[in-house]
Amino acid sequence: MAKIIQEREKCIGCGSCVALCPKFWEMGEDGKSSLKGGKQNSEGNCELETKEIGCNQEAADSCPVQIIQVIKE
Ligand code: SF4
Repeated sequence: MAKIIQEREKCIGCGSCVALCPKFWEMGEDGKSSLKGGKQNSEGNCELETKEIGCNQEAADSCPVQIIQVIKE
C-alpha cells in the first residue's frame, strides 16, 4: 500500500501533476489540483490510499512547490 498526500492549500495550479499523472490527478474548479478519490485528513491535507504508486512519484517530483508526498507502506 501507499499513501499520497497533497498540501492542497499551497497548490499554485500549475497543472504539472495532472499532465503527468491524469489517472490520479485532476484540476478542480477552484484552480487547484485534486487527488481523484482523495479525502481530507486530520491535518487538512488531501490524502489517498492506493495499492500502486503508479505515476504519483513523477507527479511529486514535478511539483514546483513540493507539496506532494508519496509514502510507501
Ligand atoms: S504540480 Fe503541485 S502546484 Fe502544480 S497543480 Fe500539482 S500539486 Fe499543484
